[in-house]
Amino acid sequence: MAGSPVKTVALARCTAYDREEVTRSVRQVVDLLGGIESFISPGSRVLVKPNLLQGLPPERCVTTHPEVVRAVCVLLRSIGCSVVIADSPGGGIRYTPASLRSLYHAAGYDQIAAETGALLNYDTGFYEHPFPEGRLAKRFPVILPVRDADHIVVVSKAKTHLWTLFSGGAKNLFGVIPGLEKPLHHARFRETLHFGGMIADLNEAISPSLQLMDAVVAMEGDGPSSGSPRPLGAILASPDWTAIDVVACRLIGIPPLDVPTIRAVADRGGLPNSGADIILLGDDPATLAATGFRMPSTYRGEGKGLEKSLLLGLLHRLGGLYALYPVIDHSRCERCRRCERICPVHAISWSGGTPEITRSACIRCYCCHEICPVGAIATRPGLTRRMIGKVTGLS
Ligand code: SF4
Ligand code: SF4
Repeated sequence: MAGSPVKTVALARCTAYDREEVTRSVRQVVDLLGGIESFISPGSRVLVKPNLLQGLPPERCVTTHPEVVRAVCVLLRSIGCSVVIADSPGGGIRYTPASLRSLYHAAGYDQIAAETGALLNYDTGFYEHPFPEGRLAKRFPVILPVRDADHIVVVSKAKTHLWTLFSGGAKNLFGVIPGLEKPLHHARFRETLHFGGMIADLNEAISPSLQLMDAVVAMEGDGPSSGSPRPLGAILASPDWTAIDVVACRLIGIPPLDVPTIRAVADRGGLPNSGADIILLGDDPATLAATGFRMPSTYRGEGKGLEKSLLLGLLHRLGGLYALYPVIDHSRCERCRRCERICPVHAISWSGGTPEITRSACIRCYCCHEICPVGAIATRPGLTRRMIGKVTGLS
């Protein structure tokens, strides 16, 4: 079953990435849940799984802030755990020791590892993780530090997401799928609900012991990499990967059931009362909630889609004619070719020294948008979407 039967989420105010304040808030949320030893055996081997994505500087708000990762490492080290920080970055970046070194450095993780005695993972091997109970995926290729850990602690970042609407605890675990295996999963699970179900299977298979979420400064708009930082002032913690996402979504005004991972869990009976009975501890969420949080440009509003619009549903079935399509701003492109490498269906080719997208082949997964380090890939409505928007008022 998805997550623990009793779903509890702790919240603490944290207004800045000030070391003292972050350390206090992280300790506070974990203590509210019963203390670190309620989830992690003293002296055990722990994998700390942040959101490394493209290894951008902390102020870009794409990665889990190093101060939050640091505070978690300090807590784990205080009970004698050996800690490894590991993630496989977005699929357009090669999963090699050299690229990991530069990404850890850019994200500020090398410094916190040195300060806390945590290790940074450079072993880029992976193994097949069987999961016969999986509804959609029966096995996963998974990075080796997962196999070698007694516990996994996810330290995610609260962000909007062009394709999955929200990226928090559940989506974070997609990072244990190594390098170029990620786009293969995108190609295999093309529908968002299908993809959400696969992510739910992955979380059930790996079963992290504890979730923390950096929502001190969240990302709004076209996340997970090209949105804008938005101060939210919160740290969240939970043993349950669905509950923490539900509560974070409520804070920023995303209807939880519109998020495919949460929807998948609800459809499996793992979210009774749509999460209304999640137990909240700590600071009052009403004082932490944001108003006017900007949604991704791909989002059409609560419940809009196949359920409410036959016409739009039909259009989706006809091949995503309605979905926004990616376009490359060649004046900004730095010709790194990451978009070409990540595209799961090879819709991006190299032509005359620049990337070109074959729109008819594109499945609108937005991996290219996510991976572009300079924001040179935007999304645009096609003619069909503009016409339907005029007729229906939906856009
Ligand atoms: S569009 Fe972005 S990801 Fe693609 S080659 Fe240019 S800079 Fe790299
Ligand atoms: S070109 Fe289309 S299919 Fe390829 S990565 Fe971009 S959005 Fe996905």
